[in-house]
Formats: sequence, C-alpha cells, structure tokens
Amino acid sequence: MEENFRQFGQTYSEGLWIATASFLILGLVRTYLVIKNRNTRKWIFNIGPEWFVIAMKAVFAIGLVFFLFDLPVWFLNVAQYRNVAPKLPQNALIFVLYFITIQELILSFTVSESLIQQFIKRMFFFLLAVFCTTSFILAAAIVPGTFQYPSVDDSELLELPVKGDYLAMHSGAAKWINYHCNYPPQLYAIDLVKLNQEGDFFQNDGTDTTDFFTFGERVFAPTNGRIYSLEDGFENQKVMHGEDTIHPGGNLLVIEIGVNKFLFLAHLQKGSIKVNIGDSVQTGQLLAIAGNSGNTSFPHLHMHIQNLPTINDTLAQGLPFRFKKMERKRYFGWQSVENDFLIRNDKFKSN
Ligand SMILES: [Zn+2]
Repeated sequence: MEENFRQFGQTYSEGLWIATASFLILGLVRTYLVIKNRNTRKWIFNIGPEWFVIAMKAVFAIGLVFFLFDLPVWFLNVAQYRNVAPKLPQNALIFVLYFITIQELILSFTVSESLIQQFIKRMFFFLLAVFCTTSFILAAAIVPGTFQYPSVDDSELLELPVKGDYLAMHSGAAKWINYHCNYPPQLYAIDLVKLNQEGDFFQNDGTDTTDFFTFGERVFAPTNGRIYSLEDGFENQKVMHGEDTIHPGGNLLVIEIGVNKFLFLAHLQKGSIKVNIGDSVQTGQLLAIAGNSGNTSFPHLHMHIQNLPTINDTLAQGLPFRFKKMERKRYFGWQSVENDFLIRNDKFKSN
C-alpha cells in the first residue's frame, strides 16, 4: 500500500475512473455497432434450429442476472477500500457495469447473422459465455456467506464498545470480508474506525496517528466482566509502518466475561488503561483510550472473543458476538437493529 492514505485514495480513485471510462467506451461502442447493424440481427426464436447459439445465449443471460445481483454486494460490502476513495468513481463504475449488463441482457434475445455464420465468432462467444457464466455463478455462490453469522442463541450479546459514528472494517464471519477469519482464535473479530460528519475516517493526508478520528476515542466495557489480564507499555506505531507482530494486540485488555469466554480490546494507547487486573467492570464503564499500538496499520479498535485467555493461542477458538441494539447502515438507509452483527462496510451509530 502507498505511504499515505490520501495518496492511496487518489490512486485508487483514478484507477476506478479509468475502469469506468474503459467500460463506458466498450458499452457505447457495442450500442453503436448493434444500432448500425440492426438489420442483420434476428429475434433469437426466429433463427431456426440453431440450438447451440440459443443455449449459449440463455446460459450467458443467466450469468448476467447473477452478476447484476452480485454487483452491489461486491462493491458495497466486500470491497475493502470502499471507504478510502471518494464514492463518486465507485458509484460511477457500478452504474456503467449495470448499463453494460442490462444492455447485454436485452441483446440476449437477439442474435447477429455473423455470429451464426462465422465459426470464429461462434467459438469466441462460446468461450465468453462459459467464462462469464462460470465466474458470475461462482461469485454468486459465495455472496450469501457474506451475510451468514452464527445464530443469536450461539452469540454473546454485547453493547457497543465505542460512542459516535463508526465504520466496521474487517468484520463478519467470512474470509473475503474479514481477514481475521484466517486465524481461528480471531474468527468473528472486528476492526472499528470512527467517522467524521462527511463519513471519512481520517483527515489531512493520513500520515499521523492524530489524523485518524479513532485516535483518542474512549473505549467502554461491552458487557460485565472481570479484568483477566492487560498490557499497557507499548508506544503507538507510525501509520502504515512498524507493525509489532511480536505483540500483535499492543496495549490490550482481556476481560473474562463468562466461563471460557475472554473478550479482547486491542491497539489501545499507552498509559490509557483505567482498570487493573482483577477489577470487576460494568457494561458501559470507561476502560481505555483507542490508539495505534501493536500489529496495526492505522488507529482502530480491534475486538474479539476467545475461549482461551492468551491472544492468538493456537488452541484458542474465536467466539461469535452480536450487539444488542444499534443504528446500522448496510447498503442504503439507516435501520435500528437488535442482536445483530457487523460486516465490512457497515456503518453504525452509538450514543
Ligand atoms: Zn483486528
């Protein structure tokens, strides 16, 4: 990744504009050629016994329908850099891809004479149909996993550990939206960042820890428990440099919240922890200040629950948790949800 977030956001945004422009040109050239050659196109059911062509058209259309359904999920929930680049180029790309897909869907009902007559064109269309349909359907098959989560009965029910407007980054129960899921102890772990009014999670060029709105935010107890252990001696890391892989959690609080249930709050600021080992804590109690210590690229609050008290104990298993009540924005529009979970790119409010 680039040295600072502003640069990265700009490069990413430029890439999206180039992709948008390229697809738009492709789509418009296609529109032009179809209109120009409209006399040579035939209604698909009038082309005689060309079952191969009809079947390929049908298969391709099914793939396109899956693609239309996947598009918003990939761009709004799965995309990791959704919140680094401006929304405009991202939405423009979605719009152009929708335009092309719908155009192709409509064109699936017609066929050009040259496709029927030319072997090369037929083979090209055959390969395109197989490739696109397979990839669209494979992508669609994993999309429902984005929204899967263990049931309410199997989850720990918590209050949110922060106050204000926040964004869930790596979060959820699937690897493609949550890299934590690659490590069994951190299954279901979440990374949270605070947002300003404009929905950004940092200001200036994002080179200093203080550019990030999460830095210095208060962290509260998500549930009742007892402080099992803590770390409080690590300096904050520089943004995008010097991740501490030996002490991944950095300054860390481990709260015993039940039998074989240990809740971890990580990357806290040095000297900010307001409780001691053995203390009982109550839900909503101020515990510490969010920072950038440990294995972290930029300030955020990491939280997860394990069945064993040592972070990343290879024998430990991560446990699922949900939040009792929150205002959450997934896709479009805010909703009040209860006993629900967070996935990547969810926004939420907490007071
Ligand atoms: Zn994390």
